[in-house]
Amino acid sequence: MTLRSEPAAEYGTLKLFLDNEWKESASEELGLSFNPATGRVIAKVPFATKEEVDEAVESARRGYGKWSKTPITERVKHLFKLKETLENNFEELAVVSTQNHGKTLAESRGDVRRTIDNVDTAISVAYTLAKGETLDEIAPGIDEFMVRESLGVFAIVCPFNFPLMIPFWFLPYAIVLGDTVVVKPSEITPLPMQKVADLVLQEVGLPSGVFNLIHGGKEVVELLISNSGVSGVGFVGSTSAAKQVYKLAGEHGKRAIVQGGAKNSIVVMPDADLTRSIGSIVGSFFGNSGQRCLAGSNLVTVGEAHEKALKSLVTTSTKLKLGPGLEETTEMGPVVTSKAKERILGDIARGVGEGAKLVTDGRDAEVLEYPDGFYLGPSIFDDVSPDMKISKEEMFGPVASVVSAKNLDDAIEMINRGTNYGNMACIYTTNGKNAREFRMRVNAGNIGINIGVAAPAANFPFGGRRDSFFGVLHSQIDTVDFFTDKKVIVSRW
Ligand code: NAD
Repeated sequence: MTLRSEPAAEYGTLKLFLDNEWKESASEELGLSFNPATGRVIAKVPFATKEEVDEAVESARRGYGKWSKTPITERVKHLFKLKETLENNFEELAVVSTQNHGKTLAESRGDVRRTIDNVDTAISVAYTLAKGETLDEIAPGIDEFMVRESLGVFAIVCPFNFPLMIPFWFLPYAIVLGDTVVVKPSEITPLPMQKVADLVLQEVGLPSGVFNLIHGGKEVVELLISNSGVSGVGFVGSTSAAKQVYKLAGEHGKRAIVQGGAKNSIVVMPDADLTRSIGSIVGSFFGNSGQRCLAGSNLVTVGEAHEKALKSLVTTSTKLKLGPGLEETTEMGPVVTSKAKERILGDIARGVGEGAKLVTDGRDAEVLEYPDGFYLGPSIFDDVSPDMKISKEEMFGPVASVVSAKNLDDAIEMINRGTNYGNMACIYTTNGKNAREFRMRVNAGNIGINIGVAAPAANFPFGGRRDSFFGVLHSQIDTVDFFTDKKVIVSRW
């Protein structure tokens, strides 16, 4: 690991980034942001006031006036600079992300890589999809053409679990297409985007108002969406918040991409090659300490796969080295807050109460040097039935529920009817026909075939169905249509 500068041990009270300046918030409402590995507070997060939200939107509106008229060939140069800056500060960003979120360094590096992939894809948009279309002579002497126009200011509201990548599912596309943004990171993990704003200010040279950053929670999001200067919202978070955001956006006539929670099943067929696959299955359940919208949550074993799959899952996951993410040898970090830990402990207790068999109990896992860190080891339930809450509700922690299915039809039925989420479903099999049946019949937006975390690359949309997604267009490349509107011109000369 090569760092250009050591990360700060503490970040004090965070500022807001408006009009290309750091501004102190006047808010008296302060949240606390932790280093989950040590349990210590590392920053205080001001929940922006209404005036500050208005100021952020106003900054973005002023920025939009000039930015939307800046040729795309100029705009894209800023993205090249942003890419270079992110690459040059790759390790610093990964470290801050681990420090604030708790995930391992390898996982944070993955987050930074996917962040930059989205900048790369947005750069490609400037030369391809940003263009309109023309059809001459659609009728005698009449030509018709379509141009894409930017729309204004967009709010980008993010969850805690990928503090860099998720803002970048939206941000670089909005910018290259001529819109401006107000980003509101999670109040739990605001530090990585704070670092990005610092880099933007010092190295990227974006004009004032193009990128603004404010902090806060639900109220700030509501203020942003209700502000008449905001044209739309890109939101990623839990389903309960997603539904409220989608409703509010609708009430205000705003366009919205709204991605919600998940409950993902990983199906193991009797013909699966477990020797080859178990690493990726364990990674799906316990990578990021289970705090991924694409994390495996139910392991659905088909027929005789049960015993073998359960044994492999238990043996491999109990070997994972729990510890602080900043130590390179750590394979699983803490969960994000003590509150999250309490919630997950409650879910495990509920599973026990429902009669599921806790075959691996991660509740008392400790990391001796960090007794106050928010650690939980992997927990695995066997004998889970599809009607138990632990197989239906999102737990967002390192907990696996093993459910038995009679055959593939039964497994697909459980996925399609067992929950109303539709973010991801995966199948492990060596039989192409099974894989084909699965991908065609499962009602989820992202499908993995012998892959445990089916995360679409930046140049694909990030799917989601049912309660995992509200809207029409998805994030990443789909945002080209979200951040622009089409105008059709019919002309005769
Ligand atoms: P969260 O819903 O608590 O918060 C997400 C964001 O919404 C935060 O910025 C928060 O301040 C804001 N917020 C919270 N409640 C709100 C409300 N009622 N109205 C408006 N805004 C509100 O989510 P989280 O705990 O930060 O993140 C974890 C959740 O995000 C999980 O459910 C996970 O599945 C989901 N997630 C989904 C995807 C996806 O692509 N579908 C990706 C990552 C995470």
